[in-house]
Amino acid sequence: EHIANQIAAGEVVERPASVIKELIENSIDAGATKIEVSVEEGGLDSIRITDNGSGIDPEDCETAFYRHATSKLSSSRDLYQIRTLGFRGEALPSIAAVAKVKLLTANSDSGLGRQVVIEGGSLKSAEDAPAPQGTDITVKELFYNTPARLKYMKTIQTELGHISDVVYRQALAHPEIGFVLRHNANLLLQTQGNGDLLQVIASIYGNNAAKSMLSISAEDPDYKITGYIGRPELTRSNRAGMSTIVNGRFIRNPALQQAIMRAYHTLLPIGRYPLLVLELQMHPSLVDVNVHPAKLEVRFSKEAELTAFVEAAIKETLSQEVL
Ligand code: ADP
Ligand code: MG
Repeated sequence: EHIANQIAAGEVVERPASVIKELIENSIDAGATKIEVSVEEGGLDSIRITDNGSGIDPEDCETAFYRHATSKLSSSRDLYQIRTLGFRGEALPSIAAVAKVKLLTANSDSGLGRQVVIEGGSLKSAEDAPAPQGTDITVKELFYNTPARLKYMKTIQTELGHISDVVYRQALAHPEIGFVLRHNANLLLQTQGNGDLLQVIASIYGNNAAKSMLSISAEDPDYKITGYIGRPELTRSNRAGMSTIVNGRFIRNPALQQAIMRAYHTLLPIGRYPLLVLELQMHPSLVDVNVHPAKLEVRFSKEAELTAFVEAAIKETLSQEVL
């Protein structure tokens, strides 16, 4: 069991940012409306995630750390209609195998919860403890027992860059959730959680950028597009400002990115990219999110139709405002 956990950890837990991605997904699955992420030294010293979600039943706190004990997947058919983000039942056991984890959680507002401490996959303690409803997980000394893995970690700034990417993406995909990101007590991000995507864009890219965004909205029988697209003068030197969200999940798809670039084609200088946040809604059967569970790639079953629709919608929005 220990060895299986460490092997799985190699796939799920690549670096501090991947721990944070998994823990935020769990908080979202638990229905949290507030998620706070605090990290020390690029997440290598400490990662703490606090949410106000459902919390974990005291009886399930220890089993949550056993592999596949709690997979949310009930049948292989569900792969095509995934509603929750987690479906492997591997994250908590994998993280606990390579770090020192403290879980404090309560699944009611009685004030009574449970605290479990696991280090390197071994249960250290489990006891009742006062806690507000929700979950508070602290992950300390990531990779302390896998020195080979620790050697691969880059500078604190690089790890922090990956962490902010993860949190920014979730904040953009979930304007209805209030996110906080702190690094060594510096506040890096705070979103309101009031459902206003433009406010999230302002907290990440700044007020001036947000002011220069155009609202986009288009619909056909298969697809619905909403979100904000940057005016062509608001260019960036890389693709990182091109966010695509499908059914509430931040994704990456090369064909979709090419369609966006075609729409901006004559409007952008060579080597410049737009800032935009596109939200797409479609029937779950039109998108396969299981290409790689740990990655962002997805496949669309009617890719040509979708990309043509996106290109046309962006062109239309730009032509109304720019000309
Ligand atoms: P998965 O998300 O694939 O089920 P995880 O290892 O990520 O597997 O989590 C194990 C289980 O622990 C989850 O299924 C869920 O029941 C519980 N859990 C984990 N994190 C939270 C959280 N923040 N709030 C409520 N329940 C949680
Ligand atoms: Mg999970």
